[in-house]
Amino acid sequence: MKALRLVHLYPREMNIYGDTGNVLVLRRRLQWRGLAVTITPVSVGDPLPHDADILLGGGGQDAAQGDIGADFAQRGPQLRAMADDGVVMLAICGTYQMLGHEFVTQEGRRIAGVGVLDVVTHGQPVRLIGNNWVVTPQAGRLVGYENHSGLTTLGPGAAPLGTSQLGRGNNGKDGTEGAVRDNVIGTYLHGPVLAKSPRFADDLLRRAYLRRGEPAELEPIDDALPELAARVAVGRPR
Ligand code: GLN
Repeated sequence: MKALRLVHLYPREMNIYGDTGNVLVLRRRLQWRGLAVTITPVSVGDPLPHDADILLGGGGQDAAQGDIGADFAQRGPQLRAMADDGVVMLAICGTYQMLGHEFVTQEGRRIAGVGVLDVVTHGQPVRLIGNNWVVTPQAGRLVGYENHSGLTTLGPGAAPLGTSQLGRGNNGKDGTEGAVRDNVIGTYLHGPVLAKSPRFADDLLRRAYLRRGEPAELEPIDDALPELAARVAVGRPR
């Protein structure tokens, strides 16, 4: 089968908490199965490959989000078309916020989003920081940690990724964490989240193969180590 193309958005600017690890986890889970994979970094000014199978973007400080803001916003039509076409997207924290309609920082600075996800985010002085784990209908338990000032509210066009079990999630009020529409997934879970959520990682890979009309049966991998790490992490205090 043609190599699965992973597109890594703004690897330098949006990797404040090591979310690049999500790219590494997907690459390794494909390589362990002998499946071909290509990784394409996309920074400011770079073209966005039209044959992307999975887009991944990480977290960033308000300033970094401002720095990439104009470049990201002008990709809006292509990103919306890709989302409508079922391209898989995993957006962590800052990138999650910018897939929404807007992120207004706690200083009142508006950073335009691209409207892929029906969410809006407003920053506030008290940051939401700490370990968290989330129960999701699509991929079971996700384990990670959060660190954001933004409070995200979902509109009718987005469903929660899951329910927050230990942390504050989207906004610390409605119990939701993350957002989903079609194959687009946003979450506040850093970690990198895929490192201790192997079922979630494989769910993303299956979605990408299914969109291509290719077999999505993935050979089982011995996930004893990440599952042990997840159990330890879930038992940690907030
Ligand atoms: N700057 C954004 C916020 O503080 C996103 C932070 C992040 O990506 N971890 O909410």
